[in-house]
Amino acid sequence: MMLIEERMTLEKLFQNIRSGKRITPEEGVFILRNAELLDLGDLANEIRFKKNPLQQITFVLDTNPNYTNICNIDCIFCAFYRHPGEEGEYTYSIDHMIQKFKEAAAKGVTTVLLQGGVNPALPFEYYVDMVKRTVAEVPQIYPHFFSTSEIIGMAQVSGLTIREVLKQLYDAGLRSIPGGGAEILSDRVKKKISNKKGTSADWLNVMREAHVIGYKSTATMMYGHLETDEDIVEHLESVRRLQDETGGFTAFVPWSFKPGNTPLEKIIPHYATPTRYLQMIAFSRMYLDNVPHIQASWFSEGKKTGQIALHFGADDFGGTLLEENVHAAANFVNKTNIEECIQLIHESGFAAAQRTTLYDILKVYKPVEVAA
Ligand code: SF4
Repeated sequence: MMLIEERMTLEKLFQNIRSGKRITPEEGVFILRNAELLDLGDLANEIRFKKNPLQQITFVLDTNPNYTNICNIDCIFCAFYRHPGEEGEYTYSIDHMIQKFKEAAAKGVTTVLLQGGVNPALPFEYYVDMVKRTVAEVPQIYPHFFSTSEIIGMAQVSGLTIREVLKQLYDAGLRSIPGGGAEILSDRVKKKISNKKGTSADWLNVMREAHVIGYKSTATMMYGHLETDEDIVEHLESVRRLQDETGGFTAFVPWSFKPGNTPLEKIIPHYATPTRYLQMIAFSRMYLDNVPHIQASWFSEGKKTGQIALHFGADDFGGTLLEENVHAAANFVNKTNIEECIQLIHESGFAAAQRTTLYDILKVYKPVEVAA
């Protein structure tokens, strides 16, 4: 039961947020611990419509293939990777990937989010050629390639600086990178779940360098494991600060840890609740006052929860995900197609707007009027 004093503090905080005042980290922790979910949702929705007043939700036709599952980083939340020589390991040729991209483009896909493990056997030229050939041979798709972990791996293999790696990929035609590899930007947690992956500052540094060169990227957050409310706030504070500096984040994308087949499953065997997801969506909309889009996911949290999240401050429904292997490795499989994606958005009370990787609108699907 909330004390009168706490209720009054919350009311005051909500008034301040409504009038445009930023949430401080201390206030953020207080809100996460004390605010009712529906109050958070109401305020987040209000902020969303101030930022983006259209009664529409964006989505993208995309696919998430992987070029290798070989990785030497050993994150304990990951069910996807294999060590070199282990059963089930693979590394695909660029020809193989280009063929996949062509098949995806033929189905209307416009965004390819390409990631792999951090495979020390792959030379830097492999990545540069992958970008160059994609741009030249499959111009229908927009490459959204390589997480910060892979980019750090490329720098280690090549002996180049992070900036030089990013510069060469940019010159090859890459303009957008995904936000993967952040998990929780709290070194206390990172040490426990991804000890070899680098620090929060490493993730922020790659993003900073990328934005300075001219890239756009998303920012992500994987919660629902060992983090506390303080860690969540630390994560959002880091993203907000970097966004103040560079303006390079297009969207924030939270998702929950999927324990199946991961070493972390022994400690955290359960999924985070839909309630926590809605809290993350609403709270990130309130905290990240400088990030234009908050992405709700039909995929990672289930279609119904994804739909509800559209009323908790999210304005984007993610992608149709023709192919996905990382969550599938954790026994988490969810499928949709363009028709269903549009229908889910319409059912939620919005027009569905197909977008590009960088959130330009390609086509708006209005809900069909039903005769009375
Ligand atoms: S999350 Fe990425 S870096 Fe970590 S083990 Fe899995 S593939 Fe490797």
